Amino acid sequence: MIPGARLIILGRQGAGKGTQCVRLSRHYVVPHISTGDMLRAAVREGTELGMMAKEVMDAGGLVGDDIMIGIVDERLRADDARNRGYILDGFPRTVAQAEALDSITAERPLHAVIDLDVPREIVLERISSRRVCRDCGTNYTATGQDPSPWICDTCGGDVQQRDDDTPEAVNRRLDLYESQTTPLKRYYSADGRLVVVNGVGHPDHVFARLTSTVESHR
Ligand code: AMP
Repeated sequence: MIPGARLIILGRQGAGKGTQCVRLSRHYVVPHISTGDMLRAAVREGTELGMMAKEVMDAGGLVGDDIMIGIVDERLRADDARNRGYILDGFPRTVAQAEALDSITAERPLHAVIDLDVPREIVLERISSRRVCRDCGTNYTATGQDPSPWICDTCGGDVQQRDDDTPEAVNRRLDLYESQTTPLKRYYSADGRLVVVNGVGHPDHVFARLTSTVESHR
């Protein structure tokens, strides 16, 4: 296995993308760059960006393209991403973001754009049981017999439901995904970059599918 990879993982929110991206980033020893995590960190820090983003995120909307492109451009210039690679999670979400990413990565093109495919009904089930550590972002699955208060095994932070995992916000996000993000699939299939990976099944099996896909594209 050669470490280092430059990957985009697309997929509906709740498709298990976050957890798989963390595993991929450990496997290939590259940073996991999640725009959602970056925005949530800005919310916690109470920055101007965070205050603006919270309102949009809680309503299940999308933060403006210019802001998101600026954030990712800066992050991809950092040494770790330049030298080793990255797993991009949650970006791009619109064709405008994908076009900007192509110019940002012109000198070091992506190895693969993976669409982690999980049907909407399964995603809705998964999101209702999704819990997340407010401090470090580790994801958990609620079973109905969970500790209260629920303390994160990784950092000791509070594990709770995400503010944007209300049924209204989830449905709006899934609708937005269909209208804004689905065109990305056409964008990346047009030049043969898109690879669809079945995201249904045991997480270990999904991970094995992802790594074999990556190996065949590097
Ligand atoms: P995620 O953790 O990827 O589900 O992202 C949480 C929320 O952050 C999304 O519902 C959007 O409101 C916002 N967000 C994250 N990434 C982007 C992006 N690339 N473009 C616009 N909004 C984003």
